[in-house]
Amino acid sequence: MADKLTPIQRHHCMSRIRGKDTRPEVLVRRGLHARGFRFRLQDRRLPGRPDITLPKWGVAIMVNGCFWHGHKGCRYATKPQTNPEFWEAKIARNRHRDEVTEAHLEALGWTVITVWECELKGREAAEARLEALAEEIRQAGERRQQWESQRKISRLNAKKEREKLLARQKELEEEIKRKFPIPTRIKNESKNE
Ligand SMILES: [Zn+2]
Repeated sequence: MADKLTPIQRHHCMSRIRGKDTRPEVLVRRGLHARGFRFRLQDRRLPGRPDITLPKWGVAIMVNGCFWHGHKGCRYATKPQTNPEFWEAKIARNRHRDEVTEAHLEALGWTVITVWECELKGREAAEARLEALAEEIRQAGERRQQWESQRKISRLNAKKEREKLLARQKELEEEIKRKFPIPTRIKNESKNE
C-alpha cells in the first residue's frame, strides 16, 4: 500500500496482520470457555476457515470486525476519507467472501452465527451478547439433533419397508408356484430350448 494511511486505517491494517488474536475473538473464546463449550479454531478443513467452530453443536461462529466486514448501519463501519474507492472495493470483496463462506457452510449442515465487534463493546453489552450466543448455540444443537434423529428414523423405516416388500414378493412367488404348478415335463423342455 503506497498511499498514506490515517492512524485509524493503519491500526486496522495492523490488527488484520496480527490475525487471529483480535480482541473480539478473544472475548468470544473466553465467553464460550467460561460457559463450558468446546470449540475449534480456524479449522482448515472447512470452507473459509471459520474463526470458531463447535462440532458437537454444528455451529460455526464468525467474529467480524465492523470496518473490515462492512457491518451495515454500524457506526464503526465508516468509510475512510482517503482513497475511498480502494476501501470500498476491499470491503465489498470481504462481504462477498463472507456470504459465499456462509452459504457453503450452511450447505454442509452448519449453523453460521456472526458476532460483530460492536456487539462486544462495553462489559455489559459483551456479556449480554455472549449469553445470547450461548443460547443460539444450544438451539442450533437441538435443531441438529432433531434433524439427525429424524433422518435415522426415516432411514430405518425405509429399510423395514424394503424388507417387507421383498418378503411379500417371495410369498407371492411361492403362492403362484403352489397354485399353478408347472408340470415337470414342460419344465424340462423349457430348459432345453
Ligand atoms: Zn458493527
